[in-house]
Amino acid sequence: MPFKALGLSPNILRGVHAMGYTDPTPIQLRAIPAVLAKKDLIGSAQTGTGKTAAFALPILTNLGAHSSRGARVLILEPTRELAAQVETAFRDFARFTDITPLVVHGGVGYGHQRSELRKGVDVIAATPGRLLDFLKEGLKLDTIEVLVLDEVDRMLDMGFLPDVKRIILACPDARQTLFFSATVPPEIAAVAAFALRDPVRVEVGMNHSAAQTVSHAMYPVAQVQKFELLEALLERTEFDSVLIFSRTKHGADRIARRLKAANHAVAVLHSNRSQNQRTEALDGFKNGRYEVMVATDIAARGIDVAGISHVINYDVPANPEDYVHRIGRTGRALSVGDAFTLMAPEDESDVRDIERFIGKPIERLQLDGFNYAPYTARPPRAENQGNGGQGRFAQNRGNRQGGGQGGGHGGGRGQGRGQGGGQGRGPGGGQGRGYQGGGRGQSSQQPQQPQPKRQVSGTARHEGRSATTAPSADKPQSTVGRFISRLRGR
Ligand code: AMP
Repeated sequence: MPFKALGLSPNILRGVHAMGYTDPTPIQLRAIPAVLAKKDLIGSAQTGTGKTAAFALPILTNLGAHSSRGARVLILEPTRELAAQVETAFRDFARFTDITPLVVHGGVGYGHQRSELRKGVDVIAATPGRLLDFLKEGLKLDTIEVLVLDEVDRMLDMGFLPDVKRIILACPDARQTLFFSATVPPEIAAVAAFALRDPVRVEVGMNHSAAQTVSHAMYPVAQVQKFELLEALLERTEFDSVLIFSRTKHGADRIARRLKAANHAVAVLHSNRSQNQRTEALDGFKNGRYEVMVATDIAARGIDVAGISHVINYDVPANPEDYVHRIGRTGRALSVGDAFTLMAPEDESDVRDIERFIGKPIERLQLDGFNYAPYTARPPRAENQGNGGQGRFAQNRGNRQGGGQGGGHGGGRGQGRGQGGGQGRGPGGGQGRGYQGGGRGQSSQQPQQPQPKRQVSGTARHEGRSATTAPSADKPQSTVGRFISRLRGR
């Protein structure tokens, strides 16, 4: 169904076309009619699915034009970057109208935001803290007609729920509320129960799954060799831009320093940096000045940078949901991406939690030619032994890693079938975006030496994936769904 069949106004349709969108994404198809009908909505969607337009387009259609009565739409976001991104999306879609959006967040001066609020705006995209400051100054939300609570589970993680509740109470009861959360633990269920009225449920894709356009793999490595392996991966990966996640702010700074010393153009994004630094980092990463951005999980949710070709988890995230969000930074809007996770022996239980969460094992790969130190793994699983595993590095991995799923790099992008009958992929072993290696077709059965960066580039990603790790179409149960059923059962 094309956008124009969804009932959007002509001006908003022009904005959509100016953005280059041709067809609505599944969440847009489902959410737009419900939001246009002014229904409350509780939504979950895979990351990068077009959620912002799913609520922005019908909201803008319903707004019609600028009004001097005061702000009619309030969107709450957990981070400044997300608030800014959503405001930009509203601005883009509303470019053929006189509707005025404004972003309100901390870390910058009050003056501009205060004067814009006084002048009168239609849409406010805000983080809770700064908005509450303005409420204390006397800002009224009594003209709000639509309240969007986005990434509510993240707001819970960040301790914002009490602030969010205060803001909800400052909005009129007679309003439309849209609520987006990947998971609904009891605290969030309580907020939803008090914020929403008879919501329509929109659920797209798999809450627990990585975007299907992302190839992801684990790289087991001794903790002390992580940086070395990171450098080797960067050296041998044909990337457009790489987002590297660190668990801690200090870790992010340290990684960035070392990468800069190795002559990479690096941006750093975490909450200890000033807002100017954060904006400069994100803008520089978006416009290509920085090829690498090192970030904490502040960048894991929702940040939309076109063309992130690779996500590298320098640290395994402690929270399985963050794994899905982090790797969702690549492969957005059905473009393809690769995500690698450096996994030290001490991360194994977190990795098992992630695998349980996404409902399938994650491929283990080795970088061919990398001089691995001993990796003292937990005892290998029975199913990983004796059958040749995944490709021509089966013999290597036995020595190097004491088991695990192997895989490997070395042969370029082609089928990496080896003696074990399986497949490898990535820098050298099989396929995968832009890895250097020995070519595109069938790889040889001899491990290949690392090749200099950018001699052979590639784009194919999925051919040659092993059956055990190929994306599946299974649909894990949704916590949102369970929550709604509970609500309805009451
Ligand atoms: P979101 O999930 O809202 O962060 O959107 C992810 C990316 O998909 C953004 O870059 C959007 O501009 C893009 N996008 C959203 N809807 C569409 C669409 N219907 N067609 C193409 N790209 C889209």
